Amino acid sequence: MPAISSAPQAHPRPDLWPYEEARKLTERVHNYEPQRPVIFQSGFGPSGLPHLGTMGEILRPSYVRHAFEVLGDIHSTRLIVFIDDMDGLRKVPENIPNREATAPYLGQPVSRIPDPFGPCHDSFASHMVSLLGTFLEPVEVEYELLRSSEMYASGRFDQGLRLIIAKHREITAIIAPTLREENRVGWSPIMPLCPQCGQINSTLVTAYHPERATVELSCQRNFGGANGCGFIGEQSILGGQAKVQWKVDWALRWYVLNVDYELYGKDLID
Ligand SMILES: [Zn+2]
Ligand SMILES: [Zn+2]
Repeated sequence: MPAISSAPQAHPRPDLWPYEEARKLTERVHNYEPQRPVIFQSGFGPSGLPHLGTMGEILRPSYVRHAFEVLGDIHSTRLIVFIDDMDGLRKVPENIPNREATAPYLGQPVSRIPDPFGPCHDSFASHMVSLLGTFLEPVEVEYELLRSSEMYASGRFDQGLRLIIAKHREITAIIAPTLREENRVGWSPIMPLCPQCGQINSTLVTAYHPERATVELSCQRNFGGANGCGFIGEQSILGGQAKVQWKVDWALRWYVLNVDYELYGKDLID
């Protein structure tokens, strides 16, 4: 009887894409000190419930990590799942309870919005993160959670933020051509949190002061039904008072956390 080419074969399958990726990574890290771990990263946006796509986001790098280990590299590995809980809530999800109670917080970071499910967690984001844990239990992947809000508040991103404000012109020149025309006006690598209304999607940066790590801002943007409060002033970008824009965010995390591997789809580069 002829062999069936599609029959399951013994593990590992070095022709599969995770092994291709892992081989490239092995070449890239082979000069690292033996004790330096190889860092894999993925992300979760806790602005809504975890779903099948979320699971894929965490499983795919886990495959590559597994392949990397099977190939016998001497370096240990870590998978960081970065929780984007500084992201402003853009719309109230359809599938949560108490939607009316959440609506007034539109535009604020999800780490600062009360838990719509009740007093079980300290924030909207914390509840979603707990669901993520439950959701991933059956697939038994190993990962560490890092929360954006804690990284910013603790100052661990401060040195990276100082570099970003010093280079804001160069960064804008790189990113602007990749954006749709209507999104270029007023684009800034830094998104300050409004000290008056707590929104992060509503602020427009009007001046940069790298020497004192501050920006001047005007809380004037309207977004998804939420309106800026009109605040005008100058404030520090350090210690959790600002976050960086999407795309710049990758650079900041890769730089500060020494990330070696993160997957992205074409949907993320448009
Ligand atoms: Zn809860
Ligand atoms: Zn405001």
